[in-house]
Amino acid sequence: MSREDRAVQRDRERQDHQSGPEGPPVLGPTVDAQTRCIHYRTVLDVIAIRFACCGEFYPCHLCHEETAGHPSRPWPAASRHERAILCGLCRCELTIQEYTRSPHDPRCPRCGAVFNPRCSRHHALYFAPAGE
Ligand SMILES: [Zn+2]
Ligand SMILES: [Zn+2]
Ligand SMILES: [Zn+2]
Repeated sequence: MSREDRAVQRDRERQDHQSGPEGPPVLGPTVDAQTRCIHYRTVLDVIAIRFACCGEFYPCHLCHEETAGHPSRPWPAASRHERAILCGLCRCELTIQEYTRSPHDPRCPRCGAVFNPRCSRHHALYFAPAGE
């Protein structure tokens, strides 16, 4: 873990004490109040995604697969305005467009939390590419 990561983690632990969970419920096997789950639990894994099929927030596609009991459906390309991403730190809901705008440097536009850039490898599971 780099020095920067440790600083981020310290900040997050401070924020933990200041604010309890608000906003929409996050389903599935979460491991903390910042939407980390049993599959993705690094310091950067602090988003939950609302699934187009059921309208519920889950931390990741595996959580949905194991918990929801139905196949997931990606958001159509025309749904970029949907507030389908939940920041686990400030609990604000981002639109798909806001979240996918900078896949290599994703962060929360409200609180500045840095998200895991590796999630962009899985975007197609959540958001249908334009043109489909
Ligand atoms: Zn679903
Ligand atoms: Zn998960
Ligand atoms: Zn935030």
